[in-house]
Amino acid sequence: MSYFLRNPSNYTAEKFAEDVAAVLPVALPQYQKHGQMISCARCGIGHRGGSFSIHARGEPDMITDVDIVSVCDVCSMDPALPPLDQWKHVCATSGMFVAEKNWATFATALRWLGADALREKLGWPLVSRLLQADGHLREVCNAVIFFDGSASNLTRESPFVFPWQSDKPVFAGGGSIKVALKAALRWGSFMVIEEHRSGATKQGGRSDDTKK
Ligand SMILES: [Zn+2]
Repeated sequence: MSYFLRNPSNYTAEKFAEDVAAVLPVALPQYQKHGQMISCARCGIGHRGGSFSIHARGEPDMITDVDIVSVCDVCSMDPALPPLDQWKHVCATSGMFVAEKNWATFATALRWLGADALREKLGWPLVSRLLQADGHLREVCNAVIFFDGSASNLTRESPFVFPWQSDKPVFAGGGSIKVALKAALRWGSFMVIEEHRSGATKQGGRSDDTKK
């Protein structure tokens, strides 16, 4: 793994689940391209829908693993879904299984994948909200900006302050937003504080190798 972000203190399974629920809908097509989240964990049918379900394993105050499983449209409508341990098709093509020590790494890498998926439609640069996984970064800014690294084809990301107009969107880009973000990058008015992000180690670009 070339990228690791230590979990912030108090990063509970619930907060991790909220982070995943925020960015996975956008990142999901990237996983599906690689053969993950393409079958229903409950009935086994192959599908490319966008429904998923998040389950925590362990005792309530000692959660150690969180399973993110794909659910087909039919099963997701079923109001009487049994607990996950009774689902018969939980496997590598229907789920992602994240150990506690990797929660923040996974959530932020998932955001990166979501940005990469949106790039195909909107181009760079674009911004995304901070997640609870970002920890102390939330005290100084409210977004990250994704853009082209100057001398290479690597995507870069940096903390950023963005005037979010509502609570809704997790990502923003394209159109007039893109023009404004480009201007901000040109004037260097983004925050270069990556090195202050304790616990983060980067070697080259991020990749999606946190998935199993
Ligand atoms: Zn199903």
